[in-house]
Amino acid sequence: MPRRKVLLIKKLERMIIRLPKPRLIRQFREKLLCWYGKYGRKFPWRRASTSKYQYIIAEILLQRTRAETIAVFFPNFVREFPSWKNLGSASVARLQRYLQPIGLWRRRAASVKALAREMTKRNGIFPKRREDIEALPGIGQYIANAVLLFCHGTPQPLLDVNMARVLERVFGPRKLADIRYDPYLQELAKKVVQRKTPAKLNWAILDLASTICLIRKPRCSDCPLASICLEAVIA
Ligand code: SF4
Repeated sequence: MPRRKVLLIKKLERMIIRLPKPRLIRQFREKLLCWYGKYGRKFPWRRASTSKYQYIIAEILLQRTRAETIAVFFPNFVREFPSWKNLGSASVARLQRYLQPIGLWRRRAASVKALAREMTKRNGIFPKRREDIEALPGIGQYIANAVLLFCHGTPQPLLDVNMARVLERVFGPRKLADIRYDPYLQELAKKVVQRKTPAKLNWAILDLASTICLIRKPRCSDCPLASICLEAVIA
């Protein structure tokens, strides 16, 4: 490719990915973590004793389902299927029956079983590289980030529509419609969680999205980020 074209592409990339000032991101983290210490939600998969297997199962179950629903369902599920091996050897019919109360049971049963069989062959150890993780059955960008975060200790954002809403309101809108390919949102989310407590930061953003920064009526007057948020509406 001609050098001029390469330089032009790089310039365009820089324009698209212009991130907020580090000071603002630092304030975001500090205010949020302080709020989370008082108001963070307690879920069974957020305990210190949670295993890597349990973290990933929780994230798979949480996709497209309310955390409060999974909080009731999760303890029984991991009691019934305590390991990848156990899950992989269960029949699809049994898994479907078990998953029925939380919806999407056919798709979920097929995808957790396929992943569990693969993970049993791998002795429960996920590959280290993102490309290899995403090549496993039923794993997309979000779960791959969860694997890197919870199983390999690499700071990664659990970037979904809820986290995107908070980040966009506080720092400014994305440039592309699809979160997965938006370079600004992807880079911003990574920057935000790149600290000592990435899991806590992720949970804090998700909790704020569920309890304060609501889709239709954000409760800006109660929000710890109101003083730095671009879209704060204080009555
Ligand atoms: S100030 Fe309002 S819009 Fe901004 S993050 Fe908080 S609740 Fe959301």
